Amino acid sequence: MNNKIRVRFAPSPTGHLHIGGLRTVIFNWLLARRNNGKFLLRIEDTDLERSKPEFVDSIVASLKWMGITPDEDIVIQSARVPEHRRIAKELVAQGKAYYCFCTQEQVIERHKKKFGEADIYIKYDGACRERKTTEADLLDPHVIRFALPTNLSSISWKDLVRDDISSETDQLDDFIIIRSDGMSMYNFAVVLDDNYMGITHIIRGEEHVSNTPKQILLYNALDYVLPLFGHVSMILGPSGNKLSKRDGATSVLEYKQMGYMPDALFNYLVRLGWAHGDQEKFSRIELIDLFSIEAVSKKAAIFDQTKLDWLNGVYIRQEAAQDIWKRMVEDIVHPIFKEITWDDTKIYAAIDLYKERVKTLKELAAELLILYGPTVIYVEQDMAQWLTPNTVEPLEAIVEALQNVSEFKSAEINATIKELAKTLNLKLVNLAQPIRLALVGKSSSPGVFELLELVGKEESIKRLKNLIMYLKQ
Ligand code: GLU
Repeated sequence: MNNKIRVRFAPSPTGHLHIGGLRTVIFNWLLARRNNGKFLLRIEDTDLERSKPEFVDSIVASLKWMGITPDEDIVIQSARVPEHRRIAKELVAQGKAYYCFCTQEQVIERHKKKFGEADIYIKYDGACRERKTTEADLLDPHVIRFALPTNLSSISWKDLVRDDISSETDQLDDFIIIRSDGMSMYNFAVVLDDNYMGITHIIRGEEHVSNTPKQILLYNALDYVLPLFGHVSMILGPSGNKLSKRDGATSVLEYKQMGYMPDALFNYLVRLGWAHGDQEKFSRIELIDLFSIEAVSKKAAIFDQTKLDWLNGVYIRQEAAQDIWKRMVEDIVHPIFKEITWDDTKIYAAIDLYKERVKTLKELAAELLILYGPTVIYVEQDMAQWLTPNTVEPLEAIVEALQNVSEFKSAEINATIKELAKTLNLKLVNLAQPIRLALVGKSSSPGVFELLELVGKEESIKRLKNLIMYLKQ
């Protein structure tokens, strides 16, 4: 296959990277990896007012967290503005662009006069097209406009995602390429920079479909090799509306904070719009092997938090406890990290016990904190369901029996408690649930014998005695 594929992600640093943008990154990255190509990053910061350095940092940090690094130095668009101006002047010299001195008010006024108030789509009338501009004129405020070719009626391209797209040129006007403050406009800058970076495939969001005709015209005017375009559909919220914060449309770094595994999020996002049979779980290697941009659906995808949670759980379960802990410490902020004094072996054992039961690392951290104690917060509802004043007696019997277990291991504890249940003529659950409530304050937890071993003899007995005291009150 083509080994010269070069793709890019070109965010404007006016906000954090959101999951829609991340999916675009992933599609680009997979396309590059699949074809031994290059994935590049360009920061489109020509909107000086809205662009913020902290968003550049946050975008780069989001990609890093996903394990995606650009294959070449990051291109900063604003640094290339002098070059954009130089090329714009070249186009002027070639008669493919021109200086325009009309103010916006004049353009609007003339349009209304000609087409009436009701026509709201303001097009520039080409008033300055034939104007002879002198050096002295250029001291006055002006823009540079692209001179739309007159011999074209429509522009079409074969979109990698959306197939044939055609757009009539009568909807276009001589659009501005350099603003009066000297900054390049988006469509112009993007074409110059994509060409400069040798981009062969432009994979981006469908909101850019309407920009593509202008960009194709610029490619032609500049005699640049036309890249291929692929416009991927939006991710919608469960209600079918644009994904909003309410639906979980938060920034990538927030997903990190919430305890999602980068590989799970990666896997989940690829499946939003791309499928390989019914398979849900894919390693990156598998995806590099199987992914194709042509197979991405042009239908909008619906974000499904429950499925992401499920997949995240699957990824947590397959990970070694040691790696889970490392990721927790790196990715999330949680009081557990300040509190815990257990040694690593004990932490890993606790993670192994709980990792089957959680959907996020944050949930896992919360469980570990409950387990660590020392304060046990009793869940009212569970207490009411399993405990009565009569539970004091079996609890006291449990304390006594556990005191006599010399090797405080789950197997020994298991044998002891089962024996006790027989002696007391109680079902095992009637001992297990009070033990759970004593240890972690709730009736759902991993295996109670493993839990006792982990909490340890002394601490377990202390917590059991605390519950007895609480019941006697
Ligand atoms: N800077 C544009 C944006 O953030 C993307 C430009 C492009 O991908 O062509 O929407």
